[in-house]
Amino acid sequence: MSPPLRAPLPALRRSWRPSPFIRGSVAVHVGAAVAVLVRPPAWPWALSAVLANHLLLTAAGLWPRSRWLGPNWTHLPPAAASGGCSVPEAPGAAAAVALTLDDGPDPDVTGRVLDLLDAHGASATFFCIGDRVARHPGLARAIVARGHEIGNHSQRHLKRFSLLGPRGLSAEIRRAQQAILDATGEVPRFFRAPAGLRNPFLEPVLAQEGLQLVSWTRRGFDTVNGSPGAVLGRLTRRLQAGDILLLHDGHAARTAAGAPVILEVLPRLLAVLATAHLTPITLAAALARAAAPHT
Ligand SMILES: [Zn+2]
Repeated sequence: MSPPLRAPLPALRRSWRPSPFIRGSVAVHVGAAVAVLVRPPAWPWALSAVLANHLLLTAAGLWPRSRWLGPNWTHLPPAAASGGCSVPEAPGAAAAVALTLDDGPDPDVTGRVLDLLDAHGASATFFCIGDRVARHPGLARAIVARGHEIGNHSQRHLKRFSLLGPRGLSAEIRRAQQAILDATGEVPRFFRAPAGLRNPFLEPVLAQEGLQLVSWTRRGFDTVNGSPGAVLGRLTRRLQAGDILLLHDGHAARTAAGAPVILEVLPRLLAVLATAHLTPITLAAALARAAAPHT
């Protein structure tokens, strides 16, 4: 038996507001039930409407960048992307992007990723797996101590994460919050679903924990593709301010020479960002920039 989890920090909780699509889905269910009560022979139509709605709900959950199920960052907030000012062309504004690194911490890779980020003066957000944080708390502490941020990527990174009900989702998320808090003293503010897959029960849990869902603008598919050129090409195609880029320090594919592909991609990516005058910032920094009063 694991000890009981601390309650979420009340200050971070936000109230859950169902998205228009969720409100519409509830209306479909209520309407179908009323139709069958009032006119029982209509049941095939009512059933068809409910089934069609469930297909759409499932499709929305399988589409990582969709906002149908609730708020979802696919880009940085506009003011953050343009350097804390609502006018993107403002002179001196440091245009920003976010590097997000998933599935760590990894004892073989994460330390070397931190060295590369240090060498380029870049900040990143690591979406860590709670179990791995508990196994490598020193690495989690190093991520924070070196100026980066840790986000919640669930406790076990289950393949069936998107099939869990409210209790299962809550346990996966709260246990990871706890593991990260215990290791670093910091409470994550951002969550990324394993493989980006979700269901309609997730957003109320995130609201309860004060977590913002983050997906990505572009991903390198660097857990399955070991070609640094191909991964870099995917990440930098149509690159622009406000992009959220996804790489992996855990579960990294290997290059032909056997190296974790992120270690070859990252220096080249950071050079491309520098040339494009795009500054990699953490998601928390992006949130702070977006909230700052604009001039
Ligand atoms: Zn992952």
